[in-house]
Formats: sequence, C-alpha cells, structure tokens
Amino acid sequence: MRKIVFLDVDGVLNHQDWNQRQPKRPSGSYEEAFIRRIDPECVARLNLITDMTGSVIVFSSSWRQGKPWQESARLLRRTGMTGTMIDRTPLPDEHDTTVFAHYEGRPPEMFEPYPRGYEIQQWIDAQSFDAAPTIVILDDDDDMAHLIHRLVRTDPETAGLQLGHARRAIGMLNGS
Ligand SMILES: [Mg+2]
Repeated sequence: MRKIVFLDVDGVLNHQDWNQRQPKRPSGSYEEAFIRRIDPECVARLNLITDMTGSVIVFSSSWRQGKPWQESARLLRRTGMTGTMIDRTPLPDEHDTTVFAHYEGRPPEMFEPYPRGYEIQQWIDAQSFDAAPTIVILDDDDDMAHLIHRLVRTDPETAGLQLGHARRAIGMLNGS
C-alpha cells in the first residue's frame, strides 16, 4: 500500500529557535538562504520517517508557491533530505471547491481561508490509487478538516519536527 507524507516546512523543518539563530542580514545566494532556513536536525527526523516506512513525500507547504516543487526538492536534498518528493498539493488557483462543498455542505465563501486538508484530499482524489493510501500530515497548523486524525502536529516555537513526532508518524504509517 502506498504511504505518503504531506510535508509542511515552516514550523516543521524549522522553528523560532532556529530562525532566531540565523543572521539578520544574510548574504549569499538564494539557494544558501533557502538552506539556512532549514534545521538539519528536523530533516534527519523526516528521513527517519521515510526510511522506516518506505513513504514518499508530497509538498503541502506554502513554499510550494513561487517555485516549482522539483526545485524545492533539490534544495531540500541539499539540506540532507533523503526521501523522495513526488509532487505538491494543488495551488490556490487550482482549488476544486467541490471538495470543500462536499465536506462542508456549502461552497466556500470568498476570502475564506481554504483548509489545507481539502488541498490534500483533492490531491489524493486526483491519483489513481488502487486502494486508499496511508497518509500522515506533518504540519504545525491544524486546518486539516476531516483529515485531522492523520495530522502529526509539530511545535513551531521550540523544535519543529521532534523525535516523538517522527515516532508517531512512523507508527501511523506502519499501521501500529
Ligand atoms: Mg507551517
């Protein structure tokens, strides 16, 4: 069965403690700036999840906007990520609001925040899986709607993705 990790960045692969330790006026290329914003210890815990479960990664972070996800995948590999990123969730201009309407019983209102859970559901629905995939959502926010039970919520202030989160995600993906 397919195992998928939906990956957020801010608050998962970085956190306030990490951000505050970074130079205020960083120099260097945009690649270096990207890499500096990622805490390699959090990446190591993500690697633990993908290594121990054989799961693949779908990028659900707001970082998927503005540059192709393949570029983010390449830069994340430079931070030490060993897992395979296969895609990203739909962008705001790709929202299928029938997904929202199906679960909410009404269409979304203009300027209403669009729950990340529906972007994830839309992505799952668009695949042709034989069976429902086993998923885990790594995020510091909780706008996962009906998928909230698949969320491993991280702490954006102290340490982002911690070992306990990784253990929980591994258990959820391996069905234990
Ligand atoms: Mg976040």
